[in-house]
Amino acid sequence: MERTFAIIKPDAFAAGNAGKILARIYEEGFRVVGLKKLYLSKVEAQGFYHVHRQRPFFGELTDFMSSGPCLVMVLEAEGAIKKWRDLMGATNPADAAPGTLRREFGSSVGENATHGSDAPETAAFEIAYFFSGLELL
Ligand code: ATP
Ligand code: MG
Repeated sequence: MERTFAIIKPDAFAAGNAGKILARIYEEGFRVVGLKKLYLSKVEAQGFYHVHRQRPFFGELTDFMSSGPCLVMVLEAEGAIKKWRDLMGATNPADAAPGTLRREFGSSVGENATHGSDAPETAAFEIAYFFSGLELL
């Protein structure tokens, strides 16, 4: 069964929306294989988003991701990577379809409530960045 890596970002966690987002995750039929609350440091956020290090928003993104606690998760389902990205919706909440998490809980292209891996290789990197094998039984 495919696994993907997901984050409930600091904006959604601080707003008290983690419970509602988790309820949607279960309703959509994902198995939550791993879950923990973390408060990322700036350096940890930079390491996670190193693929974006040349992008103009890298500083803003890593400041935001280290601005408060978040929930990191490993989700399992058939086609989990695409299924989770579909549930999140477009990166910019203003472009995200009604009923998607970013439309409902995001407030800007930067503060967009959730993260999801975009391919099997990124899912493998991102899962291993935050979880050991023993945490994913
Ligand atoms: P994610 O990787 O978080 O699941 P994504 O794949 O939809 O989102 P990316 O292009 O990978 O989008 O960008 C990573 C994150 O960087 C976005 O989720 C968003 O928080 C932030 N970001 C993207 N574009 C911008 C921008 N123009 N200004 C500010 N932040 C941005
Ligand atoms: Mg991405």
